[in-house]
Parts: sequence; C-alpha cells; structure tokens
Amino acid sequence: MKQASQTKGPHWGKAELAGPTYHIVLSPHYDDMALSIGATMATFADAGRQVTDLIVFGAEPSGVALHAFARHHHDRWGLTAVEVVNARRAEEARAVQILGAATANLPFFDAIYRSDYYLSDSMLFGSPSPAEFDLPDRIATAAVDAARSLVGADDPSLTESVRFYAPLGIGNHVDHQTVFEAASQLSATGYVVWLYEDLPYAMIGDNSARRRAALATSGTYIEPVASVPTDTGWARKIAAVLAYPSQLETVFRDYAGVEPTSGAIGAALSDYHRAAGDGDGVERFWRFSPMGRAATR
Ligand SMILES: [Zn+2]
Repeated sequence: MKQASQTKGPHWGKAELAGPTYHIVLSPHYDDMALSIGATMATFADAGRQVTDLIVFGAEPSGVALHAFARHHHDRWGLTAVEVVNARRAEEARAVQILGAATANLPFFDAIYRSDYYLSDSMLFGSPSPAEFDLPDRIATAAVDAARSLVGADDPSLTESVRFYAPLGIGNHVDHQTVFEAASQLSATGYVVWLYEDLPYAMIGDNSARRRAALATSGTYIEPVASVPTDTGWARKIAAVLAYPSQLETVFRDYAGVEPTSGAIGAALSDYHRAAGDGDGVERFWRFSPMGRAATR
C-alpha cells in the first residue's frame, strides 16, 4: 500500500496525520462531510480523535417565507418545509454514527431560505450576494465558539488542540464559497485549516483543478498538505453517504450524472479517489499557503 508520505505535501507519520485531538469539519450542508472526507474522518475517529461534523447551513427554517425556488426544491425532495430539516437531522445522526463522529449545528439557514438572494440554480452557483458580505465573518466567529465549547472555554491551547476542515468551494455553490471565505479568516487568525475537495462537484470534469487555478488567479494561495488513504474508512464512507437517501437523487443524478444506486455511487466515488491518488484511493487536502492572500483583493 502506498503511504500518504509518498504523495504530494509534507511527509506525515500516522500520528501527525491524525494530528490534534479535535477535528471540526465545517460542512455547508448535511451530507458534505461524508461525501467529501468520510473515509478520513472514520480513520481519525479510529485513532481516538474527536470528530465533529459542524453543519453550517442546517438551521430549521421555521417562520421563513418560502419563495418558488425553495418550494421547487422541497417538491423535488418529496418533503414539506417542516419535514426537510427533521429528515436531514435523522439522516445526519445515522451517518455520523457510522463514521464514529459527533454532529453539531451553527445557526445559519441554507441559501434557498436566506431572503430572496438565491432564486435560481444560476444564482445558487454564482457569486455570493453582496448583502451577505459579513456572513463569512459570522461563520468564523460561530465556528470558534463551537470549538471553545468542545475543548473547554478556558483552554488556552485552542489553536493547537483543534484542526478545522473546510471546502475548497469547488463547483461554486454559494454556501460552499461562503464557508471557504470563513475558513480563510480562521486561517488568518492562527487556526489550522485543511481544505477539502467538495464532492460531488469535484467529480465533474476538471472542476477541482479549475477552482484551484481560479483561487491562484484571484491571489488566494493554497498548497497540498496531505493525502489520506481511504482504504480503512472506505466501507464506512459509502455507508455514510447512503445514509442520506433524501439527497442521493440530487447529488448524484442531477449534479454528477451518476445513477443513485449504491453500486453506481460506490464505483463513481472509488474512481474519483483512486484517480486523485494515482491508483491508490486518497482524500486530498490543501492548506492556505504561508504566502497568504495578496494584499489587494
Ligand atoms: Zn453542500
């Protein structure tokens, strides 16, 4: 078996790879951790680390007026507004149990419930609304508060005890882009952040390479930090992905062009992670480069 140290990025021993005690995954939506880095998190949980799937945009949209685009999503999912979040949370509970993780929520709504900022697929995969300019900052603050409550509010070693994970923003979903911006702020304030490839979007064409190139062009520098072998956590990753049945149709058939059956999903994910590791399955991570961001944005 090829070791992680043979792939791009620094040379890690197993203990270094698993790193600190607390692993906090910023998942824009309920299924993002399982899809993107489920095998890594199962492996780190095996190593005795505390893994928390922190759902950024999973707050219950009670009292939110639904516009036609939101109702369209609910119809497609076959759920009413009231049922949507409850169904997701039941799926999430099952998935994190499979992965050996815990779950927690930040108090933010999914993009389709945030005022009338995102009214179509092109808006959902366009630029974040200027009206939400302060949202990354609020997410970063809430993530640190969540970390504090996990580690202990007075623990002075928060930046050493915690590793955050956040999406690269591949595929340009506004919620994923916004969490990436929050991650940039966390990194700038001294927290360790590993950036992961957003699946299923990364599975489509050269989306992953294009996003990384676009970041460099815009003056945001990232570099590979680790490639974690998927072998020991693989069966649990697939089981966790399948624990979100309400999402499989949208995630696989609509976004990735994959039949939403367990066999086709397993094969498509396996193909992706094997290609990423030149034959041996890996989940890849990047970090913000010490070069940081260009001063002018
Ligand atoms: Zn997502």
